Amino acid sequence: MLQQAHKILEKHFGYSTFRPQQEEVIQNVLNNKDTLVLMPTGGGKSICFQIPALLFDGVAIVISPLISLMKDQVESLRANGIKAAYYNSSLDPVQERIVVQQAIDGDLKLLYVSPERLFKIANSWLKDVKVSMFAIDEAHCVSMWGHDFRPEYAQLSNIRKQYSSVPFIALTATADKTTRKDIVKQLGMRKAVVYISSFNRSNLSLEVRANVPKKKKISEIISFIENRPNQSGIIYCLSRKQTEEIASELKRNHIEAEAYHAGLSADKRARIQEDFITDDLSIITATIAFGMGIDKSNVRWVMHNNLPKNIEGYYQEIGRAGRDGLPSTTRMYYNLRDLMVLKKFATGSEQSPIYTEKLHRMLNYAEASSCRRKILLAYFGEDLKEDCGNCDVCKNPPQFLDGTILAQKALSAVRRTNEEIGVTMLINILRGSSNQEVYSKGYQNIKTYGIGADISFKDWQHYINQLINIGVLEIAYDESFRLKISNFGNEVLFRKRKVKITRAIDRPTKVKKEKRAKKKLTKNEKNFEVLRLLRAKIAKESGMPAYIIFHDSALTEMSVELPVTENEFLAIQGVSQVKLERYGEEFIEAIKEIKDAQMSTFEITYRFYQQGISPEQISEERELNIATIFSHLAKLYFEGKDINLMAYISEEEVNEVRKAYQEINDLSVLKPYFDFFEEKMPYYKIRIALTIIAKELKE
Ligand code: ADP
Ligand code: ZN
Repeated sequence: MLQQAHKILEKHFGYSTFRPQQEEVIQNVLNNKDTLVLMPTGGGKSICFQIPALLFDGVAIVISPLISLMKDQVESLRANGIKAAYYNSSLDPVQERIVVQQAIDGDLKLLYVSPERLFKIANSWLKDVKVSMFAIDEAHCVSMWGHDFRPEYAQLSNIRKQYSSVPFIALTATADKTTRKDIVKQLGMRKAVVYISSFNRSNLSLEVRANVPKKKKISEIISFIENRPNQSGIIYCLSRKQTEEIASELKRNHIEAEAYHAGLSADKRARIQEDFITDDLSIITATIAFGMGIDKSNVRWVMHNNLPKNIEGYYQEIGRAGRDGLPSTTRMYYNLRDLMVLKKFATGSEQSPIYTEKLHRMLNYAEASSCRRKILLAYFGEDLKEDCGNCDVCKNPPQFLDGTILAQKALSAVRRTNEEIGVTMLINILRGSSNQEVYSKGYQNIKTYGIGADISFKDWQHYINQLINIGVLEIAYDESFRLKISNFGNEVLFRKRKVKITRAIDRPTKVKKEKRAKKKLTKNEKNFEVLRLLRAKIAKESGMPAYIIFHDSALTEMSVELPVTENEFLAIQGVSQVKLERYGEEFIEAIKEIKDAQMSTFEITYRFYQQGISPEQISEERELNIATIFSHLAKLYFEGKDINLMAYISEEEVNEVRKAYQEINDLSVLKPYFDFFEEKMPYYKIRIALTIIAKELKE
């Protein structure tokens, strides 16, 4: 069976090897056992149920919560010649009937169904379908402990009872330990074997930037984008308004971007999403509503404009970058204001304690002074042995300093203002600002006024943030965010305890100018760009997402390998038999053109030569001097190409030049030989003879 699984992987998906865990999972499903798969986004979960589905008799039912995700997966399967369909509220009655008939006739290998539809059909036509297995995607939706609980999922355990003899496989990218156990329980899985892949997405770089003022942030974002021409990216924002603001700032700077949020009409949203996945639009500014359903594998960067609500969400969002495994960038901006807004959100609901706790963990991550990836993975219960080297902390480790005196200054100011001030006022007092609000309250008269004037506003923010995080200061969210001194804070103030904090990192502001210069593309990047445009054209014509045609990783490989035969093309990872048939010709054509354009002038001459065309004719054809053509042939000969120079010169002539060489002793100049022969030997013959001699000497 496994051997067949390998064959399917090659033929239908165009990949030569399984990723870690895939093989084991497939084996387990094929053994008719229940399976829980935890794999990060982009880890390759789909193949874990798609391949068994192809090997089993009957129709595999795939439960998926999102209509767009179903559509995407089904298109992707069909693009590889696999019979698949979906059944959800987006179908009209005629389409519905067709799908039902196909399922009953066994004319499908996979049928994607939304959970609410499943319960409706479970007691009707589904009974007439030979169901081979159930796959439950986004399985964390079944658990209250997850971050995306969906009540429709709760009924899935009934299905487990109803179909007691077919295997169930549940898959998720986001589940902490509690949620994991709950999934198995809620789904009623039997002796489920749990497969946990590493959640490490080492191709994603991680970066967090704190308290960057709005204007500077925009300008940083713009240079970031300008450094990544034509790359797909998403900027996540907390509010609709911000998505609009940033999109229009970008447009003002001649960067195409669209805002995406729930406030737009369904039509408009569909159009934006469509443009994004066909690579017609590179950048989207979005609320977290965006991306849930899309599988776009060539998102090259993800940015957060604000602090996310929890680590699960954050990890899922950044996980939308680099699903194809290529290096991708993530950057998160956050400030205290985000925290305040989110705190307010969190306190509104029933599940408030869970939300607040999750928010705190998020903040800890943002404030981290050790490897960020370690923190993320630890959150998902995974222990990364070594620092990752691909996060901002690893790349630029913070320096610790004794922050006791700084803390005492801040604490003292808070105390002298009767704990009535927030962070901004505190900094204004410490820096001795002549702000009107300071004066109206008479704070310019307290003893700590101006005591920290030597430290910039931004650095104070950095320090106070840390004091809040380590619990020296507390924020009273219910009292207009006033700062309060904790017990720990009192101990610091009265010199019973010391605090260690990290030094504020200065980000050079000069970088901006240098980096703004538009990036030059390398040869491979140019090739990639040609292929990307071809893909975009095909995507547009066929209304198919660009990445379903070929992933970026496949295009990258093509742009380096430049395959021009069918076999070479098939060898590219991600080129299946069907894709070769559908797109091979067009891509190979384009690659040939790339190759031709890159041919050096020598290679072009060589091509003519190989076709038996004489130097004279080549010279005419190429509109180049005959001497130039001979110099090409000489060079090619010297490099070892199969060229018969003796066709243009006689043995005696070569020997004459040989004699001349004894005297002149230089192979690099022609003129002395020309003079030596009193202008009777033409230059081209001298060149040919010298090349032959040089070659002999070399060997
Ligand atoms: P997930 O559902 O876990 O987020 P997908 O199943 O969408 O991930 O797979 C992510 C990407 O990895 C897809 O582009 C898929 O084609 C690719 N992929 C999956 N398995 C393999 C493999 N064995 N070799 C190469 N690429 C793979
Ligand atoms: Zn790191």
